[in-house]
Amino acid sequence: MPYDFDLFVIGGGSGGVRCARIAAGHLADKAGGKVGIAEGRFWGGTCVNIGCVPKKLMVQAAEYGAFAQDAVGFGWSETAPTHDWAALIATKDREIGRLNEIYVRLLQNAGVEIFEAYARFVDAHTLDVGGRIVTAKTIVIATGGKPVRPSIPGAELGIVSDDAFYLPKLPRRVAIVGGGYIAVEFAGIFRGLGAEVDLILRQPLPLRGFDHDLRTGLAEALADQGVRLHPNLSPAEIQAFGDVRRVVLSNGAAIETDLVFFATGRAAATEKLGLEQIGVRTAANGAVIVDGDFASSQPHIFAVGDVSNRLNLTPVAIAEGHHLADRLFGPGAPRSWSFEAVPTAVFSTPPIATVGLSEAEAAERGDADVYLTRFTPMRHTISGRVRKSLMKLIVDQATDRVLGVHMLGEDAPEMMQAMGIALTAGATKRDFDRTIGIHPTAAEEFVTMRSKTRSAGG
Ligand code: FAD
Ligand code: NDP
Repeated sequence: MPYDFDLFVIGGGSGGVRCARIAAGHLADKAGGKVGIAEGRFWGGTCVNIGCVPKKLMVQAAEYGAFAQDAVGFGWSETAPTHDWAALIATKDREIGRLNEIYVRLLQNAGVEIFEAYARFVDAHTLDVGGRIVTAKTIVIATGGKPVRPSIPGAELGIVSDDAFYLPKLPRRVAIVGGGYIAVEFAGIFRGLGAEVDLILRQPLPLRGFDHDLRTGLAEALADQGVRLHPNLSPAEIQAFGDVRRVVLSNGAAIETDLVFFATGRAAATEKLGLEQIGVRTAANGAVIVDGDFASSQPHIFAVGDVSNRLNLTPVAIAEGHHLADRLFGPGAPRSWSFEAVPTAVFSTPPIATVGLSEAEAAERGDADVYLTRFTPMRHTISGRVRKSLMKLIVDQATDRVLGVHMLGEDAPEMMQAMGIALTAGATKRDFDRTIGIHPTAAEEFVTMRSKTRSAGG
């Protein structure tokens, strides 16, 4: 073989690990062939180490405090639980260590040669992997992304999400900048664990791009739990006075806090790969430009996951990596996924989950019917917590197909997976209506919304 490897994957995160494992399996089934993977920091990547997994554990930690308060309404004696931040971080780190080992074992069992080092291109088929030179016929870039800070004076005085998982103690006050996934998820975590939270967002509402009713519902829910929202504002400067931080806002006002947390988006991790010298084209934000088959401008170099900055979600990175490995090395047709109606959840407090079109997106395409319900979940009629759920269906008037399903409320992410199947299968409103509900649940509302709330579009 003229090359050391048939396939070399750069990055051991969600997309890269799946791609390497599946490719190695296919090559082993054939006459054999070699797959290598390089990971410079931590096996499992962002999701396992500084993303989905530790974030969800921290959301759950915050929820236990609320459960203890809510239990009083159900006859439990009143207690004043205290939270041990260091204990949570230690437990979280142990669990992540366990997951890191699982990832390494999966790769080894699949016969992938692993390199614990950063890789960069020497030429279009040659990589420098921590000082070792390797050649590969096909190369997959799966290096993910990294947080970005706004370019303002004092930006270095704030943290980003990578740091939030390793704070030595819970700050008394946190000012979060941003209104996206990470900002609203951490607003719930810090508030739920007892911190005072300011949320500075440059839009009128959080989560630009999500359905408007979800956005207003979430803004109300954040305010109900005591998060101080500062909409239509950006930070102009961060100042330090000893341990205290002062966020000067675009309107001249200022917020005093103990921790500034920038949740202001992510950029593709490509700057140290040497892509320009080998003719792999990138967008202005560093993302590798790929075609529908994940190929870059060099036909033997591919990119999957966040590094191509399309839908930056773990299951999407995994699906892309798997599909690519099947297509390049598999025996038959590659396993395929629907990227049209991708369900997604925001683990805010309460969570949001959604699949398909928002009301505004549906209205742009044609006439649609909107079914909307807002209610206090059964638990909170007793707990006394001010917390509303919101559920919404968007239905195409012409075909009766359900175009969008949206929910703000407890268990929304668990429900939305099944709604994703329904939409992928092309379910109509009539299919929803002829499905028997499960009682007593909130989920049954999705099959009992009979009266149209309004029409959109036209
Ligand atoms: P990554 O998982 O980022 O993996 C890339 C890997 O490449 C990293 O391990 C990195 O160290 C390595 N690397 C980089 N450069 C090199 C190099 N030159 N050589 C060798 N290795 C290199 N998604 C969800 O679906 N659900 C969630 O709940 C969720 N929560 C999130 C919470 C946070 C705080 C963040 C930041 C993200 C979250 N995401 C979530 C998004 C999710 O983590 C990403 O979409 C996913 O990890 C992308 O996978 P990837 O394989 O593309 O990249
Ligand atoms: P997002 O792109 O979701 O949000 C970034 C936020 O920062 C937006 O509100 C944006 O405002 C704001 N912003 C950007 N630049 C500035 C600036 N200079 N000053 C003030 N505000 C600014 O990014 P996140 O960092 O929250 O998350 C990155 C991605 O990771 C997500 O998009 C998602 O794909 C993934 N993720 C998924 C999760 C999940 O599945 N549950 C959880 C966490 C992350 P504007 O809207 O005006 O642009």
